[in-house]
Formats: sequence, structure tokens, C-alpha cells
Amino acid sequence: MPSAREKALTAFQKYRRYLLADGNGYATCISCGKVGHVSKMDGGHYESRKNKATELEPDNVWPQCKYCNGPLSGNHVAYRNRLISRIGMERLQRLENMVMASKGSEEAMESLSEVDRKAITTKKRDKEYLEIAKRYDKLAKELEKEKLIKNA
Ligand SMILES: [Zn+2]
Repeated sequence: MPSAREKALTAFQKYRRYLLADGNGYATCISCGKVGHVSKMDGGHYESRKNKATELEPDNVWPQCKYCNGPLSGNHVAYRNRLISRIGMERLQRLENMVMASKGSEEAMESLSEVDRKAITTKKRDKEYLEIAKRYDKLAKELEKEKLIKNA
């Protein structure tokens, strides 16, 4: 049985993949730029999903081809470069600071907003994770219908 956290993260990744797919269900790999059907792509994390600080940050999860996410272990340098062109340096640094802050960097913590600090220092309970899972499952299902993802 997947944990409550696992369920939330899986639903969130699916939601991000479907959200970023075009009207025909295709998306671009955040690392190599290859276009593929989202049903055959992963939701790849920039900061590892092990980091709870950024596990549910939209800026941290993008469609990624299985080759970049698997054999290339995230194809991280290319991911970073493309992410900068998608969201800009400031938003990328926010993600990096969130992780550094969660690991104890005071300087990184000081650079963050009140909301981000609270997100880092507050531990989520299973109940919250299950609510998050439910919310994103619903949103993903709506996008699935809208973009005909299942019928492709
Ligand atoms: Zn790729």
C-alpha cells in the first residue's frame, strides 16, 4: 500500500503532467526537449522528491521523458537550464533556497517568504496528504477528459 504522502505526490505529478500537456495530450520533456504523449512521460522533479520542502511545489515538477528521468537520473544540468528559461532565475533560486533552508541554512531561510518558511517548518500529517491526493486526483481527471489523454 502506498503511503498517504506517496499518494499525494503521485496525484500531484499526474496533475502537473496533464496540466502542461497540449490539447492533444503531448508535452515537452523539461530536460531534453523531446515531445511525447504525457501518458508515456514522468513527472520529473528538479529538487529530488525526497525533499519535503519542495515536494508539492508546481515549479519543481515538470513533464520529463523516461530516458531523462531514468537512465540519465533526471538529466539535471539540462533540466536546470531549461527551467531557468521557463520560470526565470528568481523562481529557480527560491526552490533551491527552500531545500537549503530545510537542511539548516539560515541564509537560505532568510531569503524566503513567510509562507515558504512555514511550509518548510510545518510537518504534514497523513490526513493532509490524503486531502491533497484527493484534490489533485480530481483536477488530473478533469484535465484527462479535457485533453482526451486516456483515449490516445
Ligand atoms: Zn528527456
